[in-house]
Amino acid sequence: MTYDVIIIGAGPAGSSAALFTAKAGKKTLVIDNNQSVTKRAWVENHYGVEAIAGPDLVEIGKKQAAKFGTEFVQGKAEQLTKSEEGFQVTTDNGAYEGKHVILATGLSVELAEASGIQTRPGTEPRIKTVVDADAQGSTSLKGVWAAGTTAGVSMHTIVTAGDGAKVAINVISELNGARYVDHDILKA
Ligand SMILES: Cc1cc2nc3c(=O)[nH]c(=O)nc-3n(C[C@H](O)[C@H](O)[C@H](O)COP(=O)(O)OP(=O)(O)OC[C@H]3O[C@@H](n4cnc5c(N)ncnc54)[C@H](O)[C@@H]3O)c2cc1C
Repeated sequence: MTYDVIIIGAGPAGSSAALFTAKAGKKTLVIDNNQSVTKRAWVENHYGVEAIAGPDLVEIGKKQAAKFGTEFVQGKAEQLTKSEEGFQVTTDNGAYEGKHVILATGLSVELAEASGIQTRPGTEPRIKTVVDADAQGSTSLKGVWAAGTTAGVSMHTIVTAGDGAKVAINVISELNGARYVDHDILKA
C-alpha cells in the first residue's frame, strides 16, 4: 500500500501538515520517535491560544490530524530511498511507501543526511544545520519536502505550524494538479 504523503515528525510542523493533507483526502502517515522539543515549552505567543503547555499543543495537534484519518506510527525513520511510486521510508519498526515525503524533524537533520538530501548552515539562534529547502519547501530530492525548524524557519510554534500547513498545501496542489484551498464556511 502506498501513502499519498508520509510525514516524518509529529511536532507542530508535522501534525499541522498532516491535518491539511488528511483533510484534503490524501492518505497520510506520520512517523514519529517522540523527541519533540515543543514538549518542553510553555507557550503564550501562539495567535488564538491564550496559553498552552507544549505537551498539550502536541497532543491536540495529533488529535486534529487523526480526526481526518491520519495514521500515526511510533519509530525512527532511518533512510529514504527512491521507489517506483515515490519513496520508501525505512524505520527501526518497518518500511513504508509514499508518493511524497515531508521532513518535519525539528532539530534533527540525520534522516536528510542519511538519504543524501542537501543541507545548509542554519541562520536561527542555536540552529546549526537545516535541510536546504526552497520557498515552497522543496528539497534537493524532488518529492521530498521540508517544513518547520528543520527547514530553517523561525523556531516558534505559530511559525513552524504555519510552515507545515504551507508545505502541505503545496504538496496537495502538486498531487491535484491545481492550487488548493481549504475554507470551511460558518453555518448561519
Ligand atoms: C524550552 C523551550 C521553550 C519554548 N518556548 C516557546 C514559546 O514560548 N513559544 C514558541 O512559539 N515556541 C517555543 N519554543 C519553540 C517551539 O517548541 C519550536 O519552535 C517548534 O514548535 C518546533 O516545531 P517542529 O515541528 O519544527 O519540531 P518538534 O516539535 O521538535 O518536532 C519534531 C518531531 O520530529 C521527530 N523526529 C525527528 N527525527 C525523526 C526521525 N528520524 N524519525 C521519526 N521522528 C523524528 C521528533 O521526535 C519530534 O517529535 C520553545 C522550545 C523550547 C525547547
